[in-house]
Amino acid sequence: MNSKLAILGGSPEIQQPLAEFKSVGSDEIEAATRVIKSGNLSAYIGAPGEGFMGGPEVRNFEKQAAEYFGVKHAIVVNSWTSGLIAAVGAMGIEPGDEVITTPWTMSATAMAVLHYNALPVFADIDRDTFNIDPEAVRKLITPRTRAIMSVDIFGQSADMQELRKICDEYGLGLISDTAQAPGAKTGDQFAGTLADIGGYSLNYHKHIHSGEGGILVTNSDKYARKLQLIRNHAESVIKSSDPAELVNMIGFNFRMGEIEAAIASVQLSKLEERIRSRMEVASQLRGELAGLDGLELPQIQAGNTHVYYVFGIKISPEKLGVDRDTLVSALKAEGVPGIMSGYQNIHLLPAFREKIAFGSKGFPWTLVPEGEVQDYKEGLCPVAETLHANEFFGINVCMYEFDESDVKKVGAAFRKVWANLSELS
Ligand SMILES: *Cc1c(COP(=O)(O)O)cnc(C)c1O
Repeated sequence: MNSKLAILGGSPEIQQPLAEFKSVGSDEIEAATRVIKSGNLSAYIGAPGEGFMGGPEVRNFEKQAAEYFGVKHAIVVNSWTSGLIAAVGAMGIEPGDEVITTPWTMSATAMAVLHYNALPVFADIDRDTFNIDPEAVRKLITPRTRAIMSVDIFGQSADMQELRKICDEYGLGLISDTAQAPGAKTGDQFAGTLADIGGYSLNYHKHIHSGEGGILVTNSDKYARKLQLIRNHAESVIKSSDPAELVNMIGFNFRMGEIEAAIASVQLSKLEERIRSRMEVASQLRGELAGLDGLELPQIQAGNTHVYYVFGIKISPEKLGVDRDTLVSALKAEGVPGIMSGYQNIHLLPAFREKIAFGSKGFPWTLVPEGEVQDYKEGLCPVAETLHANEFFGINVCMYEFDESDVKKVGAAFRKVWANLSELS
C-alpha cells in the first residue's frame, strides 16, 4: 500500500493530472462562424441612433441575459473590469467620495473606484463566508461614503439584506461584483441582481465565458441609460444642453464585439447545467473531506446557494500541528489539482500601501484631509489577513473536469496526508 507521503519521496496518490475544464465546443464554433460569415463583427456606432446600442448579436444577448437573470436591463461590455468602472461612473461617484469594498477580491474591484478619483475603503471579511462583513462596513461610514461595492466571492452572494439595510439607512448606492457567482441565488433571486448595479465576468476563467466580456444588470432605467452611455463614448453624443448628463462620461470604449456576444449567448444557455455539475462535485467533495480533524468546509449562509468557483477551506494549524503552506505542499505533491494557498489582500497592494495611482504625488488621496484617509497597512483587515497568511486554502473547482472517481482520489489524497501529519510537523 502506498502510504509514504509524496512530499517525502513516496508515490503520489493521484498519478494522472486531471483534464482541464474546456467549455467551448461545436455550438460556440457554429455561433462564431455564423457571425464571421455575416461580415458584421461589431455594429456599434458612436453617434446618436439605433447603432449606438450595438449590433444584433449584442442586443440579442442582452435580451437573453435580462430574461435569465430576471432584471429589467442587461448591458454587455468587453470585460467585467470595464463593467465595474462603468458601474462606478453611472452611480455618479465623484472625486474624493469613498466607496467601501472588500480586500478579498480581484484588484479590478477596488481599482474601478480609483478610475473616478474616488477612494476605496476596505472593510474586513466574515470568517465563515469570506464575503464583506456588514458590521465592519458600518464602522467605516463617513460623510464622504457614497456606495458599497460588495463581492460575491468564490461563488456565493454577500449578505445583501444587511448591506441593503445599511445603504438605506445612509443613502448609499450598492454595487455587486458577482464575477465569481453567476447563477448563485439568495432566496429565488440571482446574486448580483439585489444590488443597484451588479454583474458578471465572461473572462476565460469564469463559469461561462466568451474569452473576454462582462454583463451588467440593473432594474434602474436611469443607471441602464448611463451605463449604455459610458460604454460608448457618451461625451460625443450627449447634447451639451444637459451638462448634468455628462458627469463621468469620459471617453471609454467598453463595447463587446458580435462574435463574443454570439459565443456568450450559447454559454449562458449552458450556465444552469454547469452550476449543477459544480454543485455536485462540491457535494461529493464534502462527503470525502467530512470528519477530517482541524479542517472546515465551505459554509453557506442561510438562504444562499453556492456555485463553487472556488471550494474554500479553512484549517486550524494549531490543531493539526502543521502550518498551512506545508500542508498545501503535501497535498499538491499528492497530485491534488487546482490548490491555491491563501487568497488576496488587495488593501496591501503597492498601489494602496504607497498611494500611487494618478501621477506620483498621492492623488486622489490628496483630495481628502490628511488623517482622514484610510491607512492601508497590515492589521487593517485582521480576519482577511490571518486567513490569507495561515488558515485558508482553496480548490479551484472551476478549472478542472472532475468526475466521481477524481473526487474520490482527491479525498484519498487528503486522508493520506491527514494520516501522516506527524511526519510533516
Ligand atoms: C474575474 C474577476 C474580475 C474581473 O473580470 P474580467 O472580466 O476579467 O475583467 C473582477 N472581480 C472579480 C471578483 C473577479 O473574479
